[in-house]
Amino acid sequence: MKITFIGLGIMGTEMATHLLTHSQEHNFELTVYNRSKEATKELESKGAKVANSVKEAVKEADIVFSMLANPEAVESVFFGENGNNDENATALSSMKQNAFWIDCSTVNPSFSLKSFEEAKKHNVKFIDAPVAGSKPQAKNKELVFFVGAKKEEIEKIEPYLLMMGSKIMSLGEVGKGSSFKMIVNIMLAQSMLIFSESILLGEAMGLSRDFLLDTLPNLAVSAPFTKFKAEKIKEEDYEVQFPLELMHKDLHLATLTAYEQNQPLFLANLTKEVFASAKKEGLGRLDFSAIHQFLKKNRV
Ligand code: NAP
Repeated sequence: MKITFIGLGIMGTEMATHLLTHSQEHNFELTVYNRSKEATKELESKGAKVANSVKEAVKEADIVFSMLANPEAVESVFFGENGNNDENATALSSMKQNAFWIDCSTVNPSFSLKSFEEAKKHNVKFIDAPVAGSKPQAKNKELVFFVGAKKEEIEKIEPYLLMMGSKIMSLGEVGKGSSFKMIVNIMLAQSMLIFSESILLGEAMGLSRDFLLDTLPNLAVSAPFTKFKAEKIKEEDYEVQFPLELMHKDLHLATLTAYEQNQPLFLANLTKEVFASAKKEGLGRLDFSAIHQFLKKNRV
């Protein structure tokens, strides 16, 4: 049994490390691949096999996991412009027939459907399995997988998902994992923005910042995650867990999807533009909660 993990960013590094920890006990070999080599060093030092090209990474794999930034990255690795040599070969053109490709990246549902169609051309079984949870949840094996696949397919991959997370939510057919993830993230972005703006208005009215940050997250009107973010805002600690630029990407993909569905999306579009402005001010690689820092700096 051979498993490959592609994309060793904030999330992928933690997820691949869990797979590696279980590899001996469950009798599989783990190969990892990342576009920039620096990110492979940690996994290599722990014993993972590092591939030097996409083709080398996937050619013998029974399961290939991907955890990449955005649809463009997934496309370029799996089915983009195909080079003529091994170095540029795409993953799908190099994978074994009947192997699984499990895409954990957050992408738009229509892109997951496109990935499914591309995979089918190569007799590869595609499953969308984006995750809920950020770096701490990935580290503690507490990720929740939103899986778009048939029951019998989920049964085959379940043990490996549960090596990296605590729960699998089965959403039905392909693309529905990405659909559910999309609405979870637009709620996350909007809740973060509402929370930040409310704190600033409270302060402007003379309420104490500490009182607001301690009290508001415990009220029924607040999203539970704000409790954790309030602690970070208090310390002005915006060290990245979920990059602000990737939240902007998710809002962008949501607006594309709303267009495809002919569905108005007023508030998420507005939220997207606030995140776009923060990204433009250079906050893209801070945590998405740095939207508070952006609003604070730009209040008049
Ligand atoms: P990240 O730290 O920015 O890592 C992004 C990964 O994508 C890196 O491995 C990067 O490779 C690779 N990549 C980017 N563009 C590429 C390209 N054109 N070709 C090949 N590889 C490319 O992001 P992350 O936080 O781990 O997030 C990964 C995915 O999970 C995203 O879709 C994100 O929305 C989703 N997600 C993130 C969180 C979170 O809290 N961080 C939570 C849930 C879901 P290089 O190292 O070479 O740049």
